[in-house]
Amino acid sequence: MRILITGGAGFIGSHLCDRYLAEGHEVIAMDNLKTGSTDNIAHLAGHPRFSFIHHDVTNYIYVAGVLDRVLHLASLPSPVDYLNLPIQTLKVGALGTHNTLGLALAKGARYLLASTSEVYGDPLVHPQDESYWGNVNPVGPRGVYDESKRFAEALTMAYDRYHDVDTRIVRIFNTYGPRMRLEDGRVVPNFISQALRGVPLTVYDKGQRTRSFCYVSDLVEGIVRLLEADVEGPVNLGNPSEITIVDFAKLVIDVAESGAELTFVVPKDERTRDDPKQRCPDISLAREALGWEPQVALRDGLRKTIVYFRTRLGLD
Ligand code: UDP
Repeated sequence: MRILITGGAGFIGSHLCDRYLAEGHEVIAMDNLKTGSTDNIAHLAGHPRFSFIHHDVTNYIYVAGVLDRVLHLASLPSPVDYLNLPIQTLKVGALGTHNTLGLALAKGARYLLASTSEVYGDPLVHPQDESYWGNVNPVGPRGVYDESKRFAEALTMAYDRYHDVDTRIVRIFNTYGPRMRLEDGRVVPNFISQALRGVPLTVYDKGQRTRSFCYVSDLVEGIVRLLEADVEGPVNLGNPSEITIVDFAKLVIDVAESGAELTFVVPKDERTRDDPKQRCPDISLAREALGWEPQVALRDGLRKTIVYFRTRLGLD
């Protein structure tokens, strides 16, 4: 197949490039390199079935030749990024999704939208299954991300219903692994780099919020299965093992064999406003429809991620 991956130089996008190339497909990665990096795809330079297009998907997209699959991963999923770049966040979710859907329609390609657990907002249902409509504050600081993805889902379903584009929607829960940006601002790179540098881990507020962390290879396996399966509507992909942020901080210190301490901080900006108190995927649908469930335990995934961050920090 000939596959376009937007956000192909990003964290998850670049792992998808690797996976599809390993399966013998031709891959075109598209990225504006605002948060993605050519470091993530440098090892693919010169690969006969790989090419890179430096382009911002909020502008009209031109790709020559046939396309069998379009995966729209381009996004600004870190709360720090979407607080700093709120309009770009809305544009990539809205205009970027419109342009990539238009491309899929023109090429007759199957389409996958990378959506998010943030569509559930600060959820009143726990764990979250796909039938839950969510609890989102549209005018809060997170609204720019959450609403852009909710709009993206609605647009994807509209193209599916009215233009017969064959679509899939994955709702991605917190995912971690090598190639996350050091300066991304999310909890995994923050805690790992703090633990490795031996400085206190910045636990926001009391650290009692929960998240459920999925290792990137598990997520990639789920996405690849979803794109080839016959499933309509959104599918949650994530690891259902839930942990409080303070316990997560202690685990990172333990796995990194670090002597770092914890510091409880109240961020001065709006990053913890509307911060979901709890988040855990119900993955019954993925289990049933894709025969999928995560294989990598948090400790093991953290170990691999720490190896990556050690190199990035120049500690090896
Ligand atoms: N968090 C934290 N310290 C940090 C970064 C994040 O305590 O240095 C918390 C944050 O408030 C949230 C959770 O960790 O409750 C996960 O945040 P992240 O930014 O990774 O992504 P989110 O799941 O909120 O999209």
